[in-house]
Amino acid sequence: MSNPSLLILPGDGIGPEVMAEVRRVIDWFGDKRGLKFDVSEDLVGGCAYDAHGTPLTDETMAKAQEVDAVLLGAVGGPKYDKLDFSVKPERGLLRLRKEMDLYANLRPAQCFDALADFSSLKKDVVAGLDIMIIRELTSGVYFGEPRGIIKEGNERVGINTQRYTESEIARVARSAFEMARKRSNKVCSMEKANVMESGILWRDVVQEIHDAEYPDVELSHMYADAGAMQLTRWPKQFDVIVTDNLFGDLLSDLAAMLTGSLGMLPSASLGAPMANGRPKALYEPVHGSAPDIAGQGKANPIACILSFAMALRYSFDKGDEATRLEQAIEKVLAEGYRTADLLGEEGKQPVSTTEMGTAILAALDASL
Ligand code: NAD
Repeated sequence: MSNPSLLILPGDGIGPEVMAEVRRVIDWFGDKRGLKFDVSEDLVGGCAYDAHGTPLTDETMAKAQEVDAVLLGAVGGPKYDKLDFSVKPERGLLRLRKEMDLYANLRPAQCFDALADFSSLKKDVVAGLDIMIIRELTSGVYFGEPRGIIKEGNERVGINTQRYTESEIARVARSAFEMARKRSNKVCSMEKANVMESGILWRDVVQEIHDAEYPDVELSHMYADAGAMQLTRWPKQFDVIVTDNLFGDLLSDLAAMLTGSLGMLPSASLGAPMANGRPKALYEPVHGSAPDIAGQGKANPIACILSFAMALRYSFDKGDEATRLEQAIEKVLAEGYRTADLLGEEGKQPVSTTEMGTAILAALDASL
């Protein structure tokens, strides 16, 4: 059988710096765990525009459709700010998400004990936190028609439409239940069924899919505003949360930032299962290309490395190896390794991007 395939798109700014550390981690799993990947690398974003005059070539897009998973660094930078909208670096990323039809956006909020002091919430509220927000990504109020700003009499009216079809709700609900089975078997669905018809349909369809296909998973429903309160009050009550595009946008940012730095946050966007049963998948850190620190060896590679851990778990069914990698990161943090973004006011000497990568490899070695 051939090895699973990975397309790596490092992108711009700190993207290539953090991705270099991921490459070392991928090699480690190949050498020490016999987990070999067929890795290819290509351009996306500003660097693709520099080379080809487009932020994503058709050839790269076709490759992304063929591989088992795509791993992306970050795109963008001030050099490209004045480009026409149609060729801006971010358009490359948007094209990937759209053409791969990645409708389920996974944003974990995971708090490593060593960083619990970094949160704006009390330590006991966040220490050990590990929840997963699944946001519907390709429909809802950001895409619904009619939309626009129209004139009514003497004033302007802004219009957006919240619209969900049954099948759009059903497929993201399935993603959530599948995810729950790989975690603690618990899903909370959030909407506003009290005031929105789309919320009523959302609640009904999630319940129907549950009853017909996933009766073993514990399901609860919550209004999204109450969900926001509960997320700040006692986030550990949740495991998987599934919600629509708009509420997910807000709730996933809220939950992720409970846990500290942007340099620690991974994400995944999943689509429909391919012929081999694996979902179409794009894994990427939440952060951007950080032009203010690019090229200085200061970037925290952990968000990108954790994105690879998500790929191990959700694309390659290697949950145990993903846990090994997450525990290696936990160990390194507990030992006091900190890139500059994790230092706060402590005034200690930070480690570089490469030193953090090296420490994680040593912790992986120690796990054998
Ligand atoms: P950013 O995430 O790049 O940076 C915000 C702040 O966080 C900066 O101070 C940066 O130094 C810091 N930071 C981010 N990642 C870090 C890491 N791994 N380690 C240490 N510090 C880190 O957001 P921005 O400054 O608003 O945007 C910069 C560029 O990135 C823009 O061109 C923007 O369009 C693009 N962007 C791309 C993506 C993406 O590729 N998915 C996401 C957001 C922004």
